[in-house]
Amino acid sequence: RNADSAMYQAKRASAQHFAFYSHALTAQAQHQWTIENGLRNAIEQQDFELVYQPKVAIDTQEVVGVEALLRWTPFDKASIPPNIFIPIAEETGLIIAIGEWVIQQAISQLQRWQNTNRRELSIAINVSGRQLHSQHFTEFVETSLEAAQVRTGLLEFEMTEEYLVSTTETETCLATLERLKILGIRLAIDDFGTGYSSYAQLKNLPIHTLKIDKSFIDNLPEDSKNLAIVKSMINLADNLGMQVVAEGVETHKQLQCLRQHGAHLVQGFYFAKPVAPEMLEQTIEEIKNK
Ligand code: C2E
Ligand code: CA
Ligand code: CA
Ligand code: CA
Repeated sequence: RNADSAMYQAKRASAQHFAFYSHALTAQAQHQWTIENGLRNAIEQQDFELVYQPKVAIDTQEVVGVEALLRWTPFDKASIPPNIFIPIAEETGLIIAIGEWVIQQAISQLQRWQNTNRRELSIAINVSGRQLHSQHFTEFVETSLEAAQVRTGLLEFEMTEEYLVSTTETETCLATLERLKILGIRLAIDDFGTGYSSYAQLKNLPIHTLKIDKSFIDNLPEDSKNLAIVKSMINLADNLGMQVVAEGVETHKQLQCLRQHGAHLVQGFYFAKPVAPEMLEQTIEEIKNK
């Protein structure tokens, strides 16, 4: 009887557990589905915006470029952050259409600047692995650039270190990167330090820029281990002839420390949050006078 009831209890517990688990799954699936549908809609209605975060030359304090960051602001709802919707867009393949919109939008922005007083400002955009592997990616980029007649050297693509080292299609990926490089597009490794790349891989990637992940910058200069890591990343970039950007710089102390150790560019809330294009001119002025 005891054994029976233990069995019964175990079954009951497991049934409950299962019910709970499947309920949780359903809620999550539901959430994903809602976002996926919303994204499809947003693509149709072009319900996105790009905001631009300045990248500042550490020695002259001049803004040399911006990173374009995607914003989804559904008409009647609160905006949903990219950390939530980008992974879903990647999973569902919607990132291809969204990414094409981002590329075209950035190119038109470059074109507008080229026709006015901002002819030298570069734009970096985030490109996910799914996009890089899509069949017509480079063709799309090439055609868009040709149609717009912008200087290709002003466009930079950021790819995460995690993607670059984890892709199983190394050869295809390399071939795509080489083609982009030949087009004149600059290539950056994003979130550097979080993705376990090897020196052999670094050596073989046609990369112009290393972006040191914010997590290494956060507690500079006090954290001596992070400081040691950041110093060696800057040296590595220097020795490989790459440009190095420190991401997520929030304080003057961090800035001073990075300046002292020879970082080239910084990006972060200390200088500016990502802003709408109409605000950029003013933001650039403020940074110069900071
Ligand atoms: P990311 O490429 O690493 O971009 C940097 C993120 O850090 C941005 O968040 C930016 O607003 C934020 N950030 C910059 N400076 C600071 C700082 O000083 N302090 C803090 N706390 N945060 C800072 P955001 O805009 O929410 O974007 C998050 C991620 O979403 C991006 O990380 C990128 O992986 C992805 N993402 C954004 N736009 C796009 C896009 O157009 N395409 C793709 N594929 N991914 C995108
Ligand atoms: Ca980025
Ligand atoms: Ca990053
Ligand atoms: Ca990131």
